[in-house]
Amino acid sequence: MRFHKAEVAFFIFISMLLAALAFQVQAYRLIDPDGQVLSKLPDFLKNISFFKNVSFHQLAIGSAVSLTITVLFGAGFLYPLIRRQGKEENKLRALTQSLSVRSDTLEHEALTDSLTGMQNRRYFDGALEEYLQEFGRIGKPVGLMVLDLDFFKRINDTHGHDAGDEVLRVVARCLRDCTRYHDVVARVGGEEFGIIAPNVDASLLAILAERIRKAIAKLSIENGNIHLKVTTSVGLVIWDGRESSVEFYRRADQLLYEAKRGGRNRVVA
Ligand code: GH3
Ligand code: MG
Ligand code: MG
Repeated sequence: MRFHKAEVAFFIFISMLLAALAFQVQAYRLIDPDGQVLSKLPDFLKNISFFKNVSFHQLAIGSAVSLTITVLFGAGFLYPLIRRQGKEENKLRALTQSLSVRSDTLEHEALTDSLTGMQNRRYFDGALEEYLQEFGRIGKPVGLMVLDLDFFKRINDTHGHDAGDEVLRVVARCLRDCTRYHDVVARVGGEEFGIIAPNVDASLLAILAERIRKAIAKLSIENGNIHLKVTTSVGLVIWDGRESSVEFYRRADQLLYEAKRGGRNRVVA
């Protein structure tokens, strides 16, 4: 067992106090050998051989010296040591707190898309897996939509990358407005978005997807003095209760490509 510096200092301090006490007891014994207080003390304190032939005068000096050393040691070494350790502990606590805030921020940043402020692919993948587990356990449906903006490259090519960025931001806001609180909405790729909609059946999900498609088509995104329009294709699936999150996503992706092949600006379920 290893003792801390402050603990060792504390033990030394207590030993010094005991030594001072021993001097006092012996001095008292010389003055009043049959006194009331002495009779209550244990024998080993009264009959210490070291004190056998020591005079009262020497005992008084010994007591004064040992008490003084004890006080000096306590005030000059032990107390500053405890204070220093207290301060270090506070500093350490503050540091741990700021580190934990920082790691929360880092975690938040690692899961957030910086352009749109929505959740990113990493968050989405984790959430999808978790939702399948949880909703599979209680036997409730989970819906998934994968959306890809149509001819988005043209917007970049014609109006510039900044205009494209603004379109992504406005679409992201629209997706958030069109979905429910517990739906997971994320930017899963450049101009691709994913929506996990738990606890809805296929027909309701189709209505939701159609509402989103129309809402995006209705957007008019300001860029200087022109207004940009954009449409989206959507692949829509309901979890079959067995497939993995990867298989589930792949199925939605295949339907998205069918929507693209079918002419875009449509939902394929
Ligand atoms: P499709 O209808 O087949 O989806 O055509 P598309 O043009 O949308 O698809 P394509 O994959 O050819 O182009 C996607 C474009 O998205 C290309 C890329 O430059 C652009 N893009 C990806 N990420 C960003 C981004 O963060 N900002 C901007 N402005 N553009 C992005
Ligand atoms: Mg794409
Ligand atoms: Mg696209």
